[in-house]
Parts: sequence; structure tokens; C-alpha cells
Amino acid sequence: MNPRDELAPDVLFRALRQGDRVALGRAITLVESTLPAHREQAAELVSLCLPFSGQGFRIGISGAPGVGKSTFIEAFGSLLTLRGHRVAVLAIDPSSGLNRGSILGDKTRMDRLSRDPAAFIRPSPAGSTLGGVARKTREAILLCEAAGYDRVLVETVGVGQSETAVQAMTDLFLLLLLPGAGDELQGIKRGVVEMADMILVNKADGARAALAEESRLQYLRAVHLFPEKESGLQVPVLKASALEHSGMEEVFQKMEEFRTAVQASGYLIDRRREQAGWWLKESLMDQLSGWVFERFGKDFTHWEREVLEGRSSPFRAADAIMALIRGGEPSEDVS
Ligand code: GDP
Repeated sequence: MNPRDELAPDVLFRALRQGDRVALGRAITLVESTLPAHREQAAELVSLCLPFSGQGFRIGISGAPGVGKSTFIEAFGSLLTLRGHRVAVLAIDPSSGLNRGSILGDKTRMDRLSRDPAAFIRPSPAGSTLGGVARKTREAILLCEAAGYDRVLVETVGVGQSETAVQAMTDLFLLLLLPGAGDELQGIKRGVVEMADMILVNKADGARAALAEESRLQYLRAVHLFPEKESGLQVPVLKASALEHSGMEEVFQKMEEFRTAVQASGYLIDRRREQAGWWLKESLMDQLSGWVFERFGKDFTHWEREVLEGRSSPFRAADAIMALIRGGEPSEDVS
């Protein structure tokens, strides 16, 4: 077989459906590729996989660096595979464009899980925009589900916008927090805490065990003050020690309860439908801004200079650029 055939969408599709992990890896690489020649093939592959996806349960996991996300995924992922699930771990690392995979999805940090035949771990894709990186991860979820992975964990570092992207591609958003430290100390915005479907205070062990319980109660009180979740469900606030593998069972139970409830209520279907709409808008915006900067880049640079040097307000500059875009042609006299 020549190397071209190996990347043919139907060949990849058949192989990944049979549980071929190498094929799944290649399929994700194809979806992540920025080569225009791969775009069509990737789209075809995703279309083939689509009817076989959607059966899995997608779990977003976020939290500040050092909170214990990979330790948790190692412990929780192993529990899932012990219970007969097939687990895929994907990551969105907003810094991946700069230093690839250095923060998240590093296989060596999930040593045991990466050797587990029922688990598949994939580092974060590289990319220049969060939107681009996130889109690739979203498509990778579909491929993993088509390959038979029924629990997909999507990890992201809690530093800002990536949580929104992760929430927009998962069924349950789990936020990991440290004992003791307030939201601000943890670099977590209140909005992110409000986004969570489940909160876990990690590192509830050793000298921090009592503090962890105190923090758990504090967050529990806090979530009661938040507006009701669209799911209509209470946000469980749990504690665990990922390092000592304690509390994992409870996380599992609560997740199953959530999954059963949202399946029964129809919220799961609504959430995914809403997410599809969000991604349509995101993809369009992404393509649109790419097109605008490609075509009107010189005008943008010109007006940016005007703004930076105080000769124009940002709004006036934006109006001027919009007028050119509406006219359909970049100006000829800017360099
Ligand atoms: P991440 O950056 O969020 O992925 O965090 P890591 O999983 O890499 O963990 C950061 C550090 O915290 C490592 O040294 C872990 O061993 C440690 N750690 C993670 N979970 C726990 C825990 O439950 N208890 C304790 N005591 N340490 C933990």
C-alpha cells in the first residue's frame, strides 16, 4: 500500500472502526493538518464518522496549571477502563502554538493510562488560533467516538477562553480547584466556576485534608448563589485526592447520575444542538476573519498605525476598514 492510500478517508475510516489505534492517530493527524490538500480528505473522513459518533459521553476537564488535571485523568481514566469503558484523552492547549504540548496531553505524565489498551491519549494539536485548535479537537472527538471510545476526556488549562471552547464541545464540564486558595489566587474567573457542571477540590490529602473540606463547603455555598443551571441540576461539589486515588468512585457516580439525568430530560440533545450552532458561528467567524486579514491586511496595518499614533479612534478606523470590505476592494494607495 502506498503512503497516499494510508491517508485515504475510506481506508482510515474502515481501520479505525475496527479499533486500529494507529489508524485513529493518523485520522486525527489528517484532521489537524493545515495543508489545503488534506482539507477535503479530512472533511470526507469526518462525514464518514459522523453517523457513528455521538454515542460517547464527553467530559471537559479544566483547572489552573498544577491543580492535578493529568494526575486526575490518570486515576479517573484507569477507573473508567476498569469498569469496561474505552477512554480517549484529548487536550486543548492555548499555548500549543508556541511551545507544543508542553503543558497538556503529555503522555509521560499519564504513564499508566498511556499503556492501557483501552485508552487513547492524544496531545494538543498545534495551531495559531484557539478557534483553530479547538475545532480540530472537536473533530477529533467525533473520530474517537466512531473508533469506539465511549468516554472522551478533553483537558484544558484554566487560563481564559479555552474553557468556553471546551464547554462548547463537552456534555459535562468538570472544574478542578485547589484546597484553600480563593478563585483569584487560583487564576480562575468567577465565570468559569459558574460554567462548571461539577466541581472537584483536588489534593484533599495529608495536611490539606481539612482545608479541602472547608473549601468544598465554601464552593458549595457559592454555587447555591449562582443562577440555576440550564440542565436544571445541582452542581455537585466533591473532593478527591488524585494522587491517592481517593474520591474517584464518587466522581464516577455523580457523573453517571448527571449523564442519566440529562439523557432522560433531553438536555443532552439540546446542549449538543446548541453547541453545533455555536461551532457554525465560530467556524464562520474564523474563516471570515482569516479572509479579511488576507485580503485587507494592508489596510488593517495602515489603520492600525493611524490608531496607535493617535490620528484616529479605533471605531473610526474600524468603520473605514468596513467601508472598504463592503466596497469589495482593498485600497490601492496604502502600503
Ligand atoms: P496539572 O498541571 O493540572 O496537570 O497538574 P499535575 O497532574 O501535573 O499535578 C501537579 C503536581 O501536583 C504534581 O506534582 C502531582 O503529583 C501533584 N498532585 C496532583 N494531584 C495531587 C493530589 O491529589 N494530592 C497531592 N498531594 N498532590 C497531587
